[in-house]
Amino acid sequence: MKEQDDKLMEKIISLAKNRGFIFQAGELYGGLSGIYDYGPLGTLLKNNIKNAWIKKFVEDRRDMYLLDSAILMGEKPLTASGHVGGFSDPLVRDEKTGKDYRADHLLEGAGIENSEDMTIDEMSELIHDKKILSPEGNKFGSVREFNLMLRTQLGSSSDSSSTAYLRPETAQGIFVNYKNIIDSMHPKIPFGVAQIGKAYRNEITPRNFIFRLRELEQMEIEYFIHPDDWKKYFDYWKEEMNEWAEMIGLDMNKLHEVEIEGEDKAHYSDRTVDFEFEYPFGQKELYGLAYRTDYDLKKHSEFSKTKLQYTDSKTGEKYIPHVIEPSMGLDRTILALLISVYSEDEINESKRSYLAFNPSMSPYKIAVSPLVKNKEHIVNKANEVFGFLKAEFGNITWDDNGNIGKRYRRQDEIGTPFCVVIDYDTLEEGNENFGTVSVRFRDTAEQERVSIKELKEYFLEKL
Ligand code: ATP
Repeated sequence: MKEQDDKLMEKIISLAKNRGFIFQAGELYGGLSGIYDYGPLGTLLKNNIKNAWIKKFVEDRRDMYLLDSAILMGEKPLTASGHVGGFSDPLVRDEKTGKDYRADHLLEGAGIENSEDMTIDEMSELIHDKKILSPEGNKFGSVREFNLMLRTQLGSSSDSSSTAYLRPETAQGIFVNYKNIIDSMHPKIPFGVAQIGKAYRNEITPRNFIFRLRELEQMEIEYFIHPDDWKKYFDYWKEEMNEWAEMIGLDMNKLHEVEIEGEDKAHYSDRTVDFEFEYPFGQKELYGLAYRTDYDLKKHSEFSKTKLQYTDSKTGEKYIPHVIEPSMGLDRTILALLISVYSEDEINESKRSYLAFNPSMSPYKIAVSPLVKNKEHIVNKANEVFGFLKAEFGNITWDDNGNIGKRYRRQDEIGTPFCVVIDYDTLEEGNENFGTVSVRFRDTAEQERVSIKELKEYFLEKL
């Protein structure tokens, strides 16, 4: 099983690179660890996910506001939120090579559970008592807390007031704008603020392709509620997250809700459910759902010396809203989706791989091909079909490279659900297929003839 899983990851990583989905950032110069660039098809896929997310969670609702807050944040808000003091992982260094490791991951690997509940000293002691060595066989130093935020300096002065951080989560941008949103939009509780954007974490050991990144993208909602209603809305958002996962085509058999108990929960959370996914490298977090109480607004209120409350216009009740937070990593969504849709089979005794995306997620919806490149009337007709389909469906592609079999394989590999081919029959008067094109389906490799006149309607129904 292990070998098969390793192979699956290798296949997905190489497909992502060779077919223009995801490239290692800075590869030309040796690569940057934990940072990836999205190529032409990866960008289309990412946009499909973002657009579907905004449609479901913002456009199709009446109680959600969008936000695009700055990536750089000052020291004060992140001190208030607890990130300056506490957003850290336990780091331990190989004394000989100087390589760093996550102490909790090492303990986990040695079969010791609940390392999250341990203090730094307890971890140090255990690593030394159990004689845990580095992968190179060397001794470790003591465990220390390593803050994961990436720090920078704004302007030319180097005093602490110019210290800024690349935000470690998009959530804080929402909390610090709570008052602006209340004052400008006058929303009624319950309401939510949704944001998609980059976040940065100086992960000690980035790994598993786009699973643990240093530059990542999050899709987060802070849903502001009356404190009495938290249970109801927690369950509601759990369902919404499941609906979302199913809608985009994640393998629901691989998705598991895990209740996070006691000390394992983040400091701000009174209840957390993680949505874990069975990746080839193990079952790990995909999404998180947290009841953040009034923790963040209270802290920002205290540190900024500003009232951050809500006044119920009907009852006159004044209170600090509580928050339910559905938090979804965009890169992990892409990884889980690629794993969910990656398929292999045999057609006419030849092996093929294909990405069985829902058409709404496919980077290209349709590929249009002239059967041959050297017959002008066929190419012209294909161009005409391509033109009107592109005007209607946008992300469709032209493919006249190699023979038709190769084109099908290539489109299968990138998950294009339909291939349209204009052939001799299309243009031969008197032929029973005159005026039709062949439409080939990715998953079954079956084909049918569709009249050019009806083609637009045909795809409007399918896409
Ligand atoms: P983990 O325990 O895996 O480090 P986390 O509990 O720190 O994750 P959160 O702080 O809850 O993660 O972040 C919200 C979401 O952001 C996660 O559910 C995940 O989808 C995504 N995410 C967090 N850290 C990373 C990362 N380093 N790379 C890619 N995505 C990430």
